[in-house]
Amino acid sequence: MSRLIRAVIDSRALRANLSRLRAAAPGRRVMAVVKANAYGHGLVPTALALSDADAFAVARIEEAVALRAAGVRSPIVLLEGVFDVSQLAEAAQLGLDLVIHDPLQLALLEEQLPAYRFVAWLKVDTGMNRLGFRPEEFPAALARLQALTVCVREVRLLTHLACSDERDAAVTQAQIERFATLARGTGLATSIANSAAILGTPGSHADWIRPGLALYGVSPFSGESAAQYGLVPAMTLETIVISTRSVPRGETVGYGGAWRAERESRVAIVAAGYGDGLPWSLPAGTSVMIAGERLPLVGRVSMDMIAVDVTGARQPVAVGARTVLWGAELPVEEMAASARTIPYELLCSISQRVPLVLG
Ligand SMILES: *Cc1c(COP(=O)(O)O)cnc(C)c1O
Repeated sequence: MSRLIRAVIDSRALRANLSRLRAAAPGRRVMAVVKANAYGHGLVPTALALSDADAFAVARIEEAVALRAAGVRSPIVLLEGVFDVSQLAEAAQLGLDLVIHDPLQLALLEEQLPAYRFVAWLKVDTGMNRLGFRPEEFPAALARLQALTVCVREVRLLTHLACSDERDAAVTQAQIERFATLARGTGLATSIANSAAILGTPGSHADWIRPGLALYGVSPFSGESAAQYGLVPAMTLETIVISTRSVPRGETVGYGGAWRAERESRVAIVAAGYGDGLPWSLPAGTSVMIAGERLPLVGRVSMDMIAVDVTGARQPVAVGARTVLWGAELPVEEMAASARTIPYELLCSISQRVPLVLG
């Protein structure tokens, strides 16, 4: 096992976050969203840690294959459904639940009439304009799906919110109302809420909640911490200092000479770079934590290394010092803000060479 960079995954934190989200939406069922390698946390170990979830949701059929191969028997929802005959056959064989968001998917079911009876989530586009049937297309789509009793065991309804991370957004209210109007009287189970909606819009909880980011202990609201919501970061991305040096005043550090020492400086070289998934664009001044002290990155991010100005450190920084890029002590939201991106992107960008270790 590499003693350089690694992502330590805290399965107790994952479980605690699931409980916390259940408490935020009492009585609702939970579809734990584990797409994109569980937001970088490792698909299979995350699903095993979250075995209490009522279902899992993935974006690609390969992710569902991996979960079934690992022995996961829970319902697995394919958030974008299937796109051809062979995927449909595979989904049937694996007993997956399908999202149906496009007329071509209805036609596929009607033509193939698979022997397996799916749970089908009919997706309604209530304003996001990405996937789903528009309200005026909904009644006909629902009728077609409900006619397919040979291959559909149960129809459920879902929609996705475009602006749930904005407080009291009028569009969120409008989306919820449009969805409620369509669902009313159908008697079908419903689902609306992602993490931000679970925590910020109780009126969106419906029958099933669909948390992703919050399960990993990350705040879906910019400028607000996960701790405020009782969530615990599940990943610590940590590495070590591999060299230290003095830099005379006036000299520069790293590619392009992008940072110049304004004073005689101590610089630590840390084993983490864009080859591990850090953004190349990370600006000087971004905090990392070395031996428990918050210190500023300087110069450009290299493929395998970053430089950190440790001149002001209270304790001298030595080779081997533990360095945290993000985690319980330093929320990933901070680096995301510094890099002008969202924590989702940082978590999903961790590269293959970073070992995931269960903590
Ligand atoms: C990814 C996804 C979610 C989870 O969103 P978070 O913001 O991470 O909670 C929920 N529903 C759908 C349809 C998604 O694609």
